[in-house]
Amino acid sequence: MKKLALHWQILIGMVAGIIFGLGMTFLEGGSTFVLDWIKPFGTIFVKLLKLIAVPLIVASLVKGISDLKNISKFRNIGLRTIVIYVGTTVVAITIGLFLVNVVQPGKGISEETITRLTETYANSGGVQAKLAEANKQQSSAPLQFLVDMVPNNAIKAMGSNKSMLQVIFFTIFLGISMLLVGEKKSKPLKDFFDSLNEVILKMVDLIMLSAPYAVFALLANVVVSSNDPDLLLALLKYASTVIGGLLLLIVFYMILVSVFTKKNPIWFLKQISPAQLLAFSTSSSAATLPVTMERVEEHVGVDKEVSSFVLPVGATINMDGTSLYQGVAAVFIAQALSFDLTFGDQLTIILTALLASIGSAAVPGAGMVMLVIVLEAVGFPSDKLAIGLALIFAVDRPLDMCRTVINVTGDATVSTLVAKSVGKLGTPKPKNWNDNLEEVR
Ligand code: ASP
Repeated sequence: MKKLALHWQILIGMVAGIIFGLGMTFLEGGSTFVLDWIKPFGTIFVKLLKLIAVPLIVASLVKGISDLKNISKFRNIGLRTIVIYVGTTVVAITIGLFLVNVVQPGKGISEETITRLTETYANSGGVQAKLAEANKQQSSAPLQFLVDMVPNNAIKAMGSNKSMLQVIFFTIFLGISMLLVGEKKSKPLKDFFDSLNEVILKMVDLIMLSAPYAVFALLANVVVSSNDPDLLLALLKYASTVIGGLLLLIVFYMILVSVFTKKNPIWFLKQISPAQLLAFSTSSSAATLPVTMERVEEHVGVDKEVSSFVLPVGATINMDGTSLYQGVAAVFIAQALSFDLTFGDQLTIILTALLASIGSAAVPGAGMVMLVIVLEAVGFPSDKLAIGLALIFAVDRPLDMCRTVINVTGDATVSTLVAKSVGKLGTPKPKNWNDNLEEVR
């Protein structure tokens, strides 16, 4: 019997997880059962993905750069990547602002709902934690992000998933130096990283065997820990505006893929779908990164020279879904709390949401922290920030899941475009976890 494609298996796991989670909310002690006995399997899966993220980035980036043969090629790829990332993010925010100004979801929201949301969330730990985090980020000096990008200890940087940019910095430095010492002298190191890269990609295949079960656990947990359905309903217009914008962005990516690479966009979506489904289930582009890399390289045909740089950088600085959401959320909050925004303010939102998406961490809920900075940039009164965040808090998790899908899709799209533009988009060569099993036996 033909085996069901991975994306179908994952999708079935997700639907089963949602149904199971819903069922458990009706049972006495059901939610606790899910939290105690189901959720840990989802957590283990996310940890496994994070476990291999740093070694994968290092091995694949070293391989990518040392395959280049000359440095000017790398500059070329780097420049295109940054320009396209900024371009797609500006398009994303503009789509969000356009929709939120047309639909005006904040205008329809009643005083009563605002009061209820404020009472429920404004002083909650969740909202206060986001405000505290935003405060910490804001108090840093303007060039701090550059300073932070340079590690003073390579091993320490590799010891934390939060230091992804530091790891990328060190690895690029290492890769370029390997090019400069010449092929003969760098060969042992290159062979080591080539081999490490192959092995880690095999680990991705192995981890993915458990993906359908893991997403079951992750989604059952999301359902049992989600907020009051009444509140979710009150924010339906706002949530639909964000989701509508995200869908338009997918269409935009599909057009880009079709026009610039001449590939069938539906085929492209199908190839990267396991990464998208994981992004949805984990709400973290960083955790999804190993799978995104594997799909884009083996199933879309992007050469490692491109994907090894474009994808890890993208996971950290390119978040189109997040920036679209920030545009919509900022204007929604302003509309609901009758804070007038001028045209200039909306332009400020484009600029700050662009910077915020670069600064947002690729982890669940990070987009909301940077939203605070976007709101402050347009002069939103700081004593009302907690109320503003309270208004959107109830639907933040489901929207986070959706925007993470777009963040990952954006990275995959840009890497494919860059690969095509430098002649590095080849024929996909998918590998299976058991390709060499017979030999091992
Ligand atoms: N969860 C998102 C990501 O990891 C970031 C965010 O929008 O909160 O891409």
